[in-house]
Amino acid sequence: MRILISGGSVAGPALAYWLHRHGHRPTIVERAPVVRGGGAAIDFRGSALQVLEWMGLLEEMRGHETGMTAMTLVDDAGATIATLPATAISGDLEVLKSDVTAILYEATRDTTEYLFDDTITALDQDGSGVHVTFERSRPRTFDLVIGADGLHSTVRRLAFGPESQYVRHLGIYGALCTTPNILGLDRAGLMYNTAGRNALAFAARDNAELRVGLSFGADHLDYDRRDRRQQEELVAKHFAGAGWEVPRLLEAMREAEEFFFDSSGQVVMDSWSTGRVALVGDAAHCAAPTSGRGTSQALIGAYVLAGELAEAPDHTTAFAAYERQLRDYVERNQRHGRTAARWFLQPPTEPPVEVAEDVVALKQYA
Ligand SMILES: Cc1cc2nc3c(=O)[nH]c(=O)nc-3n(C[C@H](O)[C@H](O)[C@H](O)COP(=O)(O)OP(=O)(O)OC[C@H]3O[C@@H](n4cnc5c(N)ncnc54)[C@H](O)[C@@H]3O)c2cc1C
Repeated sequence: MRILISGGSVAGPALAYWLHRHGHRPTIVERAPVVRGGGAAIDFRGSALQVLEWMGLLEEMRGHETGMTAMTLVDDAGATIATLPATAISGDLEVLKSDVTAILYEATRDTTEYLFDDTITALDQDGSGVHVTFERSRPRTFDLVIGADGLHSTVRRLAFGPESQYVRHLGIYGALCTTPNILGLDRAGLMYNTAGRNALAFAARDNAELRVGLSFGADHLDYDRRDRRQQEELVAKHFAGAGWEVPRLLEAMREAEEFFFDSSGQVVMDSWSTGRVALVGDAAHCAAPTSGRGTSQALIGAYVLAGELAEAPDHTTAFAAYERQLRDYVERNQRHGRTAARWFLQPPTEPPVEVAEDVVALKQYA
């Protein structure tokens, strides 16, 4: 089948990998001009490690393990309030997102057609296929189109309707940036929260860098998604008067080469497919960063979707089977994401008891 995937981060390349194993040569269209760098440390949990092993990538991922020890909750003066065990924050295997995407790209670049620096602009499906218009490439027809383009998915908007119908805002906005290791952390992280605000920093790249997260509660903010300075000002305004190392972190944020700002939301949909178009990963069921399960969901979802497409007599049956297998798992993760989001902006307390279960009964496809 001719299968187009929108999004070349985690879900997209993982799906392309499995589609190729089942005999297809997929195409990925990715808006960024190259594989995206930067990003948080993301973690794999439970059954996601099994999928990595079946992909032959587990050892390589382990070679890039962050080796984070613990995350310590601190007060205004930097004194320890509680220490969260490494698994609470870092899961079973934690790797920087840029390393994950680079490894997945390397594993698929020879078997997948990549169209970088482009995006789908229109989708029109009929009995013969999906007719796709791109911003830069010439129009083409595919048998299936899969949206793996994240929380703000373009495929979802074009095939299912506006984002406002599916994205539930969790009342948190946050900035993530990369700075020099100005706190001198050694494979560890520090977290400081006061009512409505959370600042965290953890060491990355053999302690050479800090990844800094500055999050705050807000219902709805109007801002220009392309105006970094405006976003920095929003962060600074919400952290005005905060203690601990926040003033230094705000200063470092302004100097940072990599900067990312977004609201934290979950994607809730009655169905992840319509006709010949389906969604996978955050585009279908983002559980929010506070769930700590988005990467595992993306990887497991890609594996199951490709497997069902290989096994089922047609794509309609495959899409239904894919969804049946993942619904419960996704709903559990989303519940956990909401609980953790409430805790995230509380004055410092012990973290919520882990309620998520990370093992899914995975079929092995031929
Ligand atoms: C700050 C932060 C911290 C996180 N921490 C964790 C964690 O600790 N553990 C964890 O498991 N998960 C975490 N996550 C979530 C995790 O990053 C996502 O769940 C995971 O990356 C989902 O993968 P995805 O491939 O579905 O989507 P994404 O990684 O969002 O990738 C979407 C891709 O689509 C591309 N794209 C977007 N629009 C278009 C378009 N129109 N055309 C073409 N391409 C497009 C983007 O450039 C991107 O490459 C965190 C996320 C954030 C933001």
